Amino acid sequence: MQNLKIKNLNFLLITFHLLLATSFFGCATYPRRKETKEAVFLTEKTFRLGRTDYVYLRDLCRVYDLAWEWDVLGERLTLYREGLKVSLALGSSFALLNEQIIDLKDKLRIHNNEIAVPFSLSLEMAKIIFPPPRVISGIYKIRRVVIDPGHGGRDPGAIGPGGIKEKDVVLEIAKRLKNFLENMGIEVILTRERDRFVSLWRRTHLANTKRADLFISIHANSSRYRQASGLEIYYLSDRMDESSKALARLENAVLEFEEGQFFTENTALAATLWDIVQTQNRAQALRLAKHIEDCVGMMEDLDKRGVKGANFYVLRGANMPAILIETGFISNLMESRRLADPAYSQKLAEAIGRGILAYKEEYEKTDGFTR
Ligand SMILES: [Zn+2]
Repeated sequence: MQNLKIKNLNFLLITFHLLLATSFFGCATYPRRKETKEAVFLTEKTFRLGRTDYVYLRDLCRVYDLAWEWDVLGERLTLYREGLKVSLALGSSFALLNEQIIDLKDKLRIHNNEIAVPFSLSLEMAKIIFPPPRVISGIYKIRRVVIDPGHGGRDPGAIGPGGIKEKDVVLEIAKRLKNFLENMGIEVILTRERDRFVSLWRRTHLANTKRADLFISIHANSSRYRQASGLEIYYLSDRMDESSKALARLENAVLEFEEGQFFTENTALAATLWDIVQTQNRAQALRLAKHIEDCVGMMEDLDKRGVKGANFYVLRGANMPAILIETGFISNLMESRRLADPAYSQKLAEAIGRGILAYKEEYEKTDGFTR
């Protein structure tokens, strides 16, 4: 009985000491160290009690940047950190780690007037705080991109106020984009390298036979409203608003230039298969479009008209994620001049290129968005 009283008195003194030292809530916020250093540092601080390695609470908190709370009446210890909560009770060898019970093999103790925690807790926490790097299969890579400068040859595309032609402007941007991506280690194939006519069918057919990972069609827009300006990015979709419908009619009009190469209606089965492939590709095309939108969005003095769906024939034949970028309105005097300016064309190509790189990084890091 006497012994027990002394023990209790000691314990009251300890808790009082803790209360004074840390004013009940402890929050050890230190600059984060590298993982290896943390592990070494903590190992150096361990000491043995019986057959178990222990570490003092203050060392554990310092190394793992933990906040802690001591419930005097319940004799319970709670440790916090972003994404981590651990509850322990004095005299118990069990801990609740993010709602999961773990066995620490030995009890939470008071030693030299300080809270001592079994070292095994540190190892369990490290698994959560420093999860092993995810192993990426490496199957999902963006290696080859087909860039498709719209129109060409007998099809000039839109014609601007000063006689500036869409086919020339987009070829210039496409070539610069090719250069940028090749410098970043991506193989690039252009559907045309000069001013020549290429049918819509042939453009995606090239991408399919070359097994390209992405198909990116570059165009410039035109509108009856001369003041219309800005860049918009399209992915393939049957759901279109009125302005997208009008644009699709305009871009698809080239079919009249094409001899014999018209799309035949799919049979029901082919349509279903095509739908499955397209649904997957469309989701990825949308990600690609968003990344490009983000990067282009950083350009000053450029109207961002957003990412939209439209039914472009040139995108329909692609077996890979495909987008169409309307880089600006050639019908707008200011914008057509800008699009014809090599410095602007370079800036635009680089912004689009950075968007493609950002998509590539995300795609590869997530194993083709499967993680
Ligand atoms: Zn066009």
